[in-house]
Amino acid sequence: MPMRRRTFVTGLAIGAGTTLLPAGLIGCADGAPYVVGDFRTPSGAPLLPVQVSEDRIIRTVVGLRPFRPAGFRVEAERLDDKLLVHNYGHGGGGWTLSWGTAALAAELALASDHRRAAVIGCGIVGLTTARTLQRRGFEVTVYARELPPDTTSNIAGAQWSPASVFDPDVATPAFHHQLDRALRIAYRAFQEQVGERYGVRWISNYWLRDDPPRLDTDLRTRWRDLYPEQRDLTPEEHPFAAAYVQHVSTLFMEPPRYLPAIMEDVRLAGGRIEVRSLDSPEAVAQLPDPVVVNCTGLGAGVLFGDSDIFPIKGQLTVLRPQPGVDYLVINDAGLYMFPRHDGILLGGTNVRRDWSLIADETAEARIVAGHEALFAAMSAKRKQRAVVAEPQGPSATAHTG
Ligand SMILES: Cc1cc2nc3c(=O)[nH]c(=O)nc-3n(C[C@H](O)[C@H](O)[C@H](O)COP(=O)(O)OP(=O)(O)OC[C@H]3O[C@@H](n4cnc5c(N)ncnc54)[C@H](O)[C@@H]3O)c2cc1C
Repeated sequence: MPMRRRTFVTGLAIGAGTTLLPAGLIGCADGAPYVVGDFRTPSGAPLLPVQVSEDRIIRTVVGLRPFRPAGFRVEAERLDDKLLVHNYGHGGGGWTLSWGTAALAAELALASDHRRAAVIGCGIVGLTTARTLQRRGFEVTVYARELPPDTTSNIAGAQWSPASVFDPDVATPAFHHQLDRALRIAYRAFQEQVGERYGVRWISNYWLRDDPPRLDTDLRTRWRDLYPEQRDLTPEEHPFAAAYVQHVSTLFMEPPRYLPAIMEDVRLAGGRIEVRSLDSPEAVAQLPDPVVVNCTGLGAGVLFGDSDIFPIKGQLTVLRPQPGVDYLVINDAGLYMFPRHDGILLGGTNVRRDWSLIADETAEARIVAGHEALFAAMSAKRKQRAVVAEPQGPSATAHTG
């Protein structure tokens, strides 16, 4: 028997085998029938609105992105009789770049005849550097003042995308060469870790804009191959109340899962992790290891006197987890929603040279109200296009991809 319905809106194919389906219809994913709740991502995840309200807030967190206008520093120098390799200053892209700059730093470390290294820092940059050195045959000790969960790396989203990594008018061609190499190495490395153990997955991103998007951005040109399923959507293809919506797929990491897993990997490969603050180059020079890699993030400013590095403060409001929400949304007012197992992250702020780790209540009010409005508008668009349908048996199929 056919479905009874008062309205019908056809689904829209947006690529081979992928379909965005409107509400209430029965669809077919990988041959298996399912009830379509609403619009879906290209891989079939429902695009459900986030329930935003004050009483769903479970925490507010602040982190300081270690930013250098010229970009991250991966460079070697001598420190007394040691080879000192720097690997810090990744701004808002430390997760994204981690395995990449770790590989560049390891190349420099291999210039030494020794195969024993100290890594200073136990955030994502230090830990990926430690693992990369171990894979290249180094015996590694990690020294850090703070361990996860007390690092900036625990605060991050962490979407795979190089945001706030350098200022375009300052970065040199040599930096851009390093950046391209690092991005491509890291992109590949995270792909190999997709799964439960590390909490890495592919996810759909929706970038909302009021004004027409620029077509000459790095995302659309230089790094297009790093953002699969990239396309501009028509209003019928998405549930958002925005004039322009771009879809891309990115890798997405869960820091509370990833960081303990990689710390375990370091230890399983024979590495040691020691809580120790190193407060001067002299203290570093006294370490027993002939190779030292400096992965201290924002701490490098004080430790090695880098006056170019400063924080970009970021604040996130976290709602209790909402199962079923599995997409990212980012708008041009700087708001973003990242759904993690430990909570729905609502961002965001980017405040340069603000060293305070205290949450700003005005920023929180803006973030919460902005997301409330975003998801209320999404709900309204879904209702407007809702289909009242009563499936009449397992064979009822109104639409397939
Ligand atoms: C709100 C927010 C959202 C973000 N979202 C993303 C995202 O979506 N994607 C992304 O790629 N990036 C994101 N980032 C950026 C990312 O978090 C950073 O780039 C990254 O965490 C930097 O890693 P790190 O290991 O260099 O520094 P950290 O995590 O800060 O680790 C530094 C380590 O060095 C140690 N240390 C420092 N000084 C000393 C010392 N003197 N002696 C001994 N140990 C020392 C610390 O204790 C710590 O262990 C975000 C950041 C914020 C704040």
